Amino acid sequence: MASTMRAIRISSTGGSKVLKYDTVPRPEITGPDDVLVKNDFIGVNFIDVYHRTGLYEIPLPAIIGREGAGVVESVGENVKDVVPGDRVVYFGNSYAEYSNSPSKHVAKIPEGVDSEVAAASLIQGLTAHTLVTQAYPVKKDDWILIHAAAGGVGLLLTQLVKNIGAHAIGTVSTSEKAKLAKSAGAEYIINYTTQDVVKEVMQITNKEGVHAVYDGVGKSTFEISLECVRRLGTFVTFGNSSGKVPPFDVTTLAKKNIRLLRPTLFNYVVTKEEFQTYTSELFELLLNGKLNIKIWKRYKLSEVKQAHEDLEGRKTSGNTNNNILQ
Ligand code: NDP
Repeated sequence: MASTMRAIRISSTGGSKVLKYDTVPRPEITGPDDVLVKNDFIGVNFIDVYHRTGLYEIPLPAIIGREGAGVVESVGENVKDVVPGDRVVYFGNSYAEYSNSPSKHVAKIPEGVDSEVAAASLIQGLTAHTLVTQAYPVKKDDWILIHAAAGGVGLLLTQLVKNIGAHAIGTVSTSEKAKLAKSAGAEYIINYTTQDVVKEVMQITNKEGVHAVYDGVGKSTFEISLECVRRLGTFVTFGNSSGKVPPFDVTTLAKKNIRLLRPTLFNYVVTKEEFQTYTSELFELLLNGKLNIKIWKRYKLSEVKQAHEDLEGRKTSGNTNNNILQ
């Protein structure tokens, strides 16, 4: 087997031009808990953009990408739950032909779930699932505001909120995205580039505000989200697609006794048990049709620059934005 492979590597942070399609050493099993995967599909997420721009710091040079799906090539001596030839999904440095991942973050893909769907839904699906079950457990009849409701995580959140029997209000930037969010189950859509979100939310909720806001947009929506939460409501800020939220005076929360959370998926799935539990729950949702994944567009590994530009340029919609086909 060749000792090299093709991968996307960054040596410095910056714009999409720092993404280099390189020939690099192929990873090998180095520890007893390693799993080496030959990638078939690689998910592209906003976190990859943050690693590339330096908003989230990582040691450089680095192969970026955080999730993929493929076939197990080899395993370390302690690994018993997957064997070479198994189809798996995993967290790891994934913009490459092969990736090495710790077995605690590798899961077998069940029959009935496509590898492409698995790669496209792992991070976004687990994020949406843990947000509605752990960050703020959504209850039937709740009013929930979801920003960027036609985005990757947004469309999944919308479907889950609707499944629970709560009312989803989604924000989007275009009429095409509005249609998509509506078809995922949003009862009301607000175009946050043309409409007054706070006014609309107050009108919809009879001046009470929402029980919870899920805000992955960050800087441009933070104040709006605070205004939209009702007394004793919950504000979950979980991303920065418009930029990082500036420092904030916590006494503001006292105005309505708001609960404010800033969770990251990776702290919900630290242990093997957590990862396996939430991943099998995600697969269940996919298998019983409660979560529908629509692949927005496929890119070759060599075209990842375009994938990043589309994601940052708000061109993507569809709940999985991009998957890189080798
Ligand atoms: P999305 O598909 O949601 O893409 C981002 C969307 O944000 C855009 O499509 C756009 O939708 C909206 N947006 C609003 N303002 C801007 C702006 N200035 N620039 C770019 N986009 C903007 O991405 P993901 O589903 O991958 O991620 C969604 C968010 O969730 C991200 O912030 C990500 O970091 C976060 N996330 C957090 C996790 C965690 O563990 N905390 C895990 C996974 C994701 P529109 O055009 O409708 O405005």
